[in-house]
Amino acid sequence: MKIKFYKNKYIYKKTHLPKEGWLQGCFICNEITGNYELFKKYYDYENKIMLKIYVYLCNKCKNKIARENEIKYKYNNSINEYIKLNNWLNFNVQ
Ligand SMILES: [Zn+2]
Repeated sequence: MKIKFYKNKYIYKKTHLPKEGWLQGCFICNEITGNYELFKKYYDYENKIMLKIYVYLCNKCKNKIARENEIKYKYNNSINEYIKLNNWLNFNVQ
């Protein structure tokens, strides 16, 4: 399948920093970070759209997630919840 449109969404904790900046609050601990990682890709096959969800994570929390299953589980749940709440999987919504 050939993708026609790409959408990127970023998840982070709100800080005093501008929304458009490269630095945002780590989703878990709020620390300011420039690191983010791909959480998941979603496809809308009918309209040929690929949606990529990125999450801002500082190195400390990223390591914690990699090491501790319980934290990883909670993290995955809260990101999935966030995606649902923001209605991002309804591809017609901007
Ligand atoms: Zn963190």
